[in-house]
Amino acid sequence: MAFYKALEKIELKKYSEASDDNFGVVFYSKGSLKTTKLFDGEVKGKVSNFFEDESKTSLMVSKEFSGLSRDILFVKDFDKKKPEHKKENWLMGVFTQLDKYNVESASIFADTSIHIKDKSFAFNIAKYAEKSAYRYTDTNPNTKKDATLKELDICVEKSSAALKRSVELGYNVGRGANTARNLGNRPANYATPTYIANQVVELGKAIGGFKVDVLEEKDMKKLGMGSLLSVSEGSVEPAKLVTMEYKGGKKGAKPIVLVGKGVTFDTGGISLKPSPKMDEMKWDMSGAGSVIGTMAAVAASKLPVNLVCAVGLTENMPAGNATKPGDVVTSMSGQTIEVLNTDAEGRLVLCDVLTYIEKFDPKVVIDTATLTGAVIVALGSVAAGVMGNDQKLVDKILEAGYASGEKAWQLPLWDEYQSYLDSNFADIANIAPGRAAGTIEGGCFISRFTEDYKWAHIDIAGVADIGDGKNKGSTGKPVGLLFEYVNSNR
Ligand SMILES: [Zn+2]
Repeated sequence: MAFYKALEKIELKKYSEASDDNFGVVFYSKGSLKTTKLFDGEVKGKVSNFFEDESKTSLMVSKEFSGLSRDILFVKDFDKKKPEHKKENWLMGVFTQLDKYNVESASIFADTSIHIKDKSFAFNIAKYAEKSAYRYTDTNPNTKKDATLKELDICVEKSSAALKRSVELGYNVGRGANTARNLGNRPANYATPTYIANQVVELGKAIGGFKVDVLEEKDMKKLGMGSLLSVSEGSVEPAKLVTMEYKGGKKGAKPIVLVGKGVTFDTGGISLKPSPKMDEMKWDMSGAGSVIGTMAAVAASKLPVNLVCAVGLTENMPAGNATKPGDVVTSMSGQTIEVLNTDAEGRLVLCDVLTYIEKFDPKVVIDTATLTGAVIVALGSVAAGVMGNDQKLVDKILEAGYASGEKAWQLPLWDEYQSYLDSNFADIANIAPGRAAGTIEGGCFISRFTEDYKWAHIDIAGVADIGDGKNKGSTGKPVGLLFEYVNSNR
């Protein structure tokens, strides 16, 4: 299924509608059980006594022993004194436990008096439930099984249309992030530009509401995309430029435009990368994956907004006909580029896509890309790097980062850095001679192609995939951030 779906169903229900057959999860904090009419005094007393011990974090009570109608996992509620970023791990931990107990259907009982004050609570449960049930199984069907949890009810005392909507949006964002993860995790011999383009077409059919257009290499040639095509030159896999157009907003209102780097495998080209960890270069399409996942979530949620997403898909391979260091190529904008390093190819792909999307008359443009290793040196896997030509837009991206738990941090795009890219053989070089300020230099390069609209660039090389050995995988970031931005700035 193109639009990844781990959980069959997530629903908001009233306490009274909760199914007796479901496994229960109850969040415990001092005094919280008093307000709920769910258990008798004896159970409440025993549970409270158990959690008197500060080191205890969860208590599993099986119905055989308690005489209650269902098995219940009491989980110590998130301590507000803890930093916010620990919330994700805490919530994911709840679902890890459900998986351990082989739970297929669960009801989470939220204490309305406490949790609902936190507006994002229902949204986050739905999002993290779906994200934690993600399993990659496409090429390992014999060894890897789906998560056991299939149905989740989020039970509250008083239901409302707004809460229902939060659950729906959280679920869709989880599915969008998982869609991005699955595209990223799929090995590059499967997830070629053609495969990903076909998946986007499938998504368009499955979700509906957005139009998909695929440009082939001959179309790009006609448009003069000499920069993007210089990257695909050495690959037998043809490049694709895929645009998705969603019109949920006011007729004629300018769209938000998201652009993603989709290098489905990056060898570095003739500037070949070293062998260790080169497999991780299958995730060099994570910008595209996140933009595709965001479109899926926005369209499935029917957000009232106009949104265009565009992804440039190509491999970067060495070959007899591959672009060589020192070659000069002409971009769609007319600017010539001296390709000093063929491993700085993401910006060569992005610049032509960023010129192409001008035809949509964008309100703002945000591009996202695993652009530089330097951003990992600067920010690690904690935050993405953001740069832009409009401070208000950058500020809103930073806000969306905090709100979604997918943090971003601004780096400067001061004029002094622009001269790093001076070339005596072309209008601009694709990298600077030295190693200084590598992430900013990437931003500077892209900024030369985005002068006609409000633009920001998110370098996600540190956050898009994580881990080592059998734990490595795509995170689905920044689908949460992008969705949050689109939803709160429509
Ligand atoms: Zn590269």
